[in-house]
Amino acid sequence: MSDFENKPAWFDGKYVLLKDANINIRTHALQYGTAFFGGLRAYYNKNKNNLYLLRLEDHHTRLRQSARILQMHWAMPYDEFRDITVNLLRQGEWRQNCYLRPFIYKSELTMSPRLHNVEDKFALYAIPLDDYLDTKRGLKAAVSSWVRISDNQIPARAKASGGYINSALAKSEALENGFDEAIFLDQRGFVSEGSAENIFIVRNGRLITPGIASAILEGITRRTVLSMAKDMGIECEERDVSRTELYTADEVFFSGTGAQIAWIESIDRRKIGDGSIGPITRKLQDTFFRFAAGEIEQYMHWLTPVY
Ligand code: PMP
Repeated sequence: MSDFENKPAWFDGKYVLLKDANINIRTHALQYGTAFFGGLRAYYNKNKNNLYLLRLEDHHTRLRQSARILQMHWAMPYDEFRDITVNLLRQGEWRQNCYLRPFIYKSELTMSPRLHNVEDKFALYAIPLDDYLDTKRGLKAAVSSWVRISDNQIPARAKASGGYINSALAKSEALENGFDEAIFLDQRGFVSEGSAENIFIVRNGRLITPGIASAILEGITRRTVLSMAKDMGIECEERDVSRTELYTADEVFFSGTGAQIAWIESIDRRKIGDGSIGPITRKLQDTFFRFAAGEIEQYMHWLTPVY
């Protein structure tokens, strides 16, 4: 059993050991995918001997929005959410990079795939995590044969558990075909996002990312990238992106809590730019890792120190 299994998780309104945070197999969320989650990171800075949670309040806001979409009762105020999260890391004596998963799920043991009048519960756990996608080498991505689910089917904005079947289909297809990650097109045929990350392209010095109508999850890292780029004086566009813009882009990268900023070397075996990390991606990636470790004064307001 891994070490972190003996660290605390928040379950049923109290801290228990992660290994003891288990649910009944009849749980509604397990039968029907009626849950939603967040994913946030805390970065450890050895010199400062501190752990920093990234954009905690933004994650809380997004969870509250998901709750509304999925007709969940969960209405935990930010202060309570922050305290549970910070105390979970303190009690677990976390001093390494980690990933936290807040999870709100329909907890009743009822049969009927509905949203209304079903009880829900909140859980939270942490696992150790460095790179999710390799950030040091270029990734090989492929446009998926699976299409991104639209807002009128399973809204990506809700970060609903059941919606991740769509991601899983695309991710497995990509990996089993020898690629590192999938890129979804939306129902109109425009570029949407990766299986668990947003996507950016650079063309002629401009940073471009699909708009929120392209069936994307409104990524918090995406927002961070846009802010950092604007602060660097880079012009940014949120708009529809055509598939062939991927092939002709100077740079392409993924953004996400798990993915961080991960650059793409080829898409559908077509080399992007000269096949190495581009200057804008490099600058954004470098700034991202420094701010996440609490090294940039200007962005300290995005961090919640644990100790
Ligand atoms: N899209 C999807 C489908 C995701 O699962 C994620 C990861 N949460 C993202 C985008 C990136 O969002 P964020 O930057 O908020 O982690």
